[in-house]
Amino acid sequence: MPADPPHRAADPQRRTVASPQSRASATSAVEVRRSSRRRRTVSAYREGDRTVVLIPARMSEAEERRWVTVMLDKLAAQESKRMLGDDELAERAERLSAQYLGGRARPASVRWVTNQNTRWGSCTPAEGSIRLSHRLQGMPEYVIDYVLVHELAHLLVPGHGPSFWELLTAYPRTERARGYLEGVVAADRLPHLPAARSE
Ligand SMILES: [Zn+2]
Repeated sequence: MPADPPHRAADPQRRTVASPQSRASATSAVEVRRSSRRRRTVSAYREGDRTVVLIPARMSEAEERRWVTVMLDKLAAQESKRMLGDDELAERAERLSAQYLGGRARPASVRWVTNQNTRWGSCTPAEGSIRLSHRLQGMPEYVIDYVLVHELAHLLVPGHGPSFWELLTAYPRTERARGYLEGVVAADRLPHLPAARSE
């Protein structure tokens, strides 16, 4: 889903854009401030009911839009650092399966693991077990839900063929969550390897 077109204020260096479709920030405005002193760093903070994002002056509009989304997600994650326990995770998986996969995916176990650093999630269809990397903890809930739906879908369809992605279209934030995870990988400056995505 594209963000709303930016609304230009009188001062070209300061404008307010409608915030992207993040639940946490759905009602707050975002003000982007360009700074010629900044070269690479992007930062963001809340100021009353608005969010201020500081970006380098030379950044393109496409980069600006991408970074605004990344920074809003980051702030939302910091603000809701409520960790789900394994039981809550299992309940959540059950609810997501019912909601998006007709309840057909029935995992026997869903749990967090700390030994999984190159994959966001994994599953063993024969055992019906799903494991999520602890690195997802603190990320926005829609991202965790996406990884859960992804692994649940693998209980029904192995591999990443068209029929797999067809299943994933049922979850409305698939593209956004994938973009978020790609942004995390890029921000970590890890090599952009397929192995770093959810498998
Ligand atoms: Zn996969």
